[in-house]
Amino acid sequence: MKMYKEIIETKTVTKNIVVDHKLYCDVCKKEIPDNSWYYTLITGHHEWGSDSIESVKNIDLCSESCVQNRLDFYFKELIGKGYNTAYFDLTREYYRRKDHIGK
Ligand SMILES: [Zn+2]
Repeated sequence: MKMYKEIIETKTVTKNIVVDHKLYCDVCKKEIPDNSWYYTLITGHHEWGSDSIESVKNIDLCSESCVQNRLDFYFKELIGKGYNTAYFDLTREYYRRKDHIGK
């Protein structure tokens, strides 16, 4: 049986931890305030076969008007191009900064 002798050194390891977290609207670029509702919009289509994954966009939006802005884009760019497989998924979520700190 082999006997391994452990050789111990003391090393300082640097680890990156999240000390603060900010969330920004992908349309107006404003910061989404802590403890507030916001929207996540996922859009895409299945027109490109397996490359359709490239069409998926997942964006955060601060307000109803920014949601409307992106939905206008969706209807103009995807439905307007005749992409019958276009879809969107709109979710309303609650943002709490502290849930993202220290990870
Ligand atoms: Zn916005």
